[in-house]
Amino acid sequence: MWQAEVRVDLDAIRENVARLKAGTGAELMAVVKADGYGHGMIPTARAALDAGATALGVCTMDEALTLRRAGITAPVLAWLLAPGLPLHEAVAADIQLGTAGLDQLAEMTAAALVADRPARLHLKIDTGLSRGGATAAEWPALVDAAAKAEADGLIEVVGLWSHLAHADAPGHPTIDRQLAAFTEGVALARRAGLRPRYRHLANSAATLTRPDTHFDLVRPGIAIYGLSPVPGEDYGLRPAMTARARVTVTKRVPAGSGVSYGHTYTTDRETTLAVVPLGYGDGVPRHASSRGPVQLAGEVRTIAGRVCMDQFVLDCGDDPVAPGDVATLFGSGAHGEPTADDWAAAVDTINYEIVTRLGGSRVPRHYDGERE
Ligand SMILES: *Cc1c(COP(=O)(O)O)cnc(C)c1O
Repeated sequence: MWQAEVRVDLDAIRENVARLKAGTGAELMAVVKADGYGHGMIPTARAALDAGATALGVCTMDEALTLRRAGITAPVLAWLLAPGLPLHEAVAADIQLGTAGLDQLAEMTAAALVADRPARLHLKIDTGLSRGGATAAEWPALVDAAAKAEADGLIEVVGLWSHLAHADAPGHPTIDRQLAAFTEGVALARRAGLRPRYRHLANSAATLTRPDTHFDLVRPGIAIYGLSPVPGEDYGLRPAMTARARVTVTKRVPAGSGVSYGHTYTTDRETTLAVVPLGYGDGVPRHASSRGPVQLAGEVRTIAGRVCMDQFVLDCGDDPVAPGDVATLFGSGAHGEPTADDWAAAVDTINYEIVTRLGGSRVPRHYDGERE
């Protein structure tokens, strides 16, 4: 018996990965950072690999090592690395590293010496996001130094890559500009003597909408979880996560009853209140106070008043509700329940944040579609 749960349908993840793969001639790296966007990094990674992903993408070295400790041997790329990490552990575990500049390259060649094996690197060029990666001005020195380190047997350049700023706005002019800058960066790397196996640029949105960005490998994240990277667009993906809880208490209260902290909601008639045991301690945004949609007893209702740390209240009128009834915050939408997109719209954020918050919280995750 569960009080609150995040339910993850691994078959949905398999289906989504297979669908994305069918839409590209490239290999697919499933992005499972941030605990698989709240879906659980290890089960998600396994499901994605079952369905044809050939590599996994994460941010941190810890995430990459956690995949290895779970016995996953597929290629893993980790790309967000502060100076001073024990990178030799990553190299020893055959984790591929994203390299954003000369300082990082130096750390990675040093790590290769300690680990006594070549570091496998993906050199990142900043083509216009202005986040990670070498600028166009820094790129020639980076590829030259990498070519030298490769000739010395210290590294192997496995990939050249970049990341898009506006892929969620298909047709945005920056996409063409970034694509051109990337192609130029790749040509420069070739002239420096590098022959990496992978060039990669596409996140979910570009995987779904811009085949000209696919190159040798695509890196979808949100789409493998069945959510649309482009608000309002439906790509036929199946959302994998459901968040729900059982009502703990119901009660009849008179008209004029203030509800939850600060009494920001007041009943306008005699009514039945239901207490749902999920709050901001579970990743429900407090910003969902008087906004978040929740399905209970066949109706979608709006949260009555403040979201507390552990609970919120629904005003159910004269509908029959009882302790133990299941309140669904979001799911696939197949049973009339709200979706992560509905929550994102209600609280002014993106579906990525909704699933990552709920799934990454203290709420236990349960899985459907597990395979031995
Ligand atoms: C998170 C991330 C992705 C995946 O992005 P989605 O929009 O979820 O598909 C791809 N590449 C990089 C570098 C990322 O940080």
